Amino acid sequence: LEFEHCGFPETLNYNLKNSGYEVPTPIQMQMIPVGLLGRDIVASANTGSGKTAAFLLPVIVKALEETKTPSALILTPTRELAIQIERQAKELMIGLPNMRTVLLVGGLPLPPQLHRLKQTVKVIIATPGRLLDILKQSFVQLHGIKIVVVDEADTMLKMGFQQQVLDILENISRDRQTMLVSATIPVGIEQLANQLLQNPVRISI
Ligand code: AMP
Repeated sequence: LEFEHCGFPETLNYNLKNSGYEVPTPIQMQMIPVGLLGRDIVASANTGSGKTAAFLLPVIVKALEETKTPSALILTPTRELAIQIERQAKELMIGLPNMRTVLLVGGLPLPPQLHRLKQTVKVIIATPGRLLDILKQSFVQLHGIKIVVVDEADTMLKMGFQQQVLDILENISRDRQTMLVSATIPVGIEQLANQLLQNPVRISI
């Protein structure tokens, strides 16, 4: 697999090259085609494997197709991870139309996040607690979300975020694509996957 053969928009291919992404990593080779097909995925992959781009590229393609906003949600356990994901997402989305992102994470002031939400955002990158707060106050609605990533799912469980993740996903249509990424897939992750995913493709590297 090469990035040029994925059918990405020219701008996206250009951004990949510009960011130094020449050859897909093994997790990208496996996840991108399956993700582009719209299938649910449970993937075991570590930080450093290129997993972020492996889920971001299908997310970007899907979000480009969708007109409803927001249309994509990426959940990750910590603010630092969320910031890194947004940085990579922005790099890959340069020049793509209507692809505004918002970070909804704890430990940063809420008003600027709400302000940004009032503009039209396509992709939400969030930690569970802050997103649930915002959801409960009806500052965001998730009916338009068509693709969801649960990143670092094992860390989510360790940090006690399982119920929050389930509560958030309850607010999202089953008519969605869901990708769950975790360093390891212990029993708890299998159970979470069973609750959130439909007929997933299993990927490990
Ligand atoms: P991640 O495992 O997603 O945290 O990615 C680790 C680092 O590898 C990040 O800095 C990415 O920008 C970089 N990276 C991801 N995929 C590729 C690729 N195909 N070629 C070169 N660098 C990459």
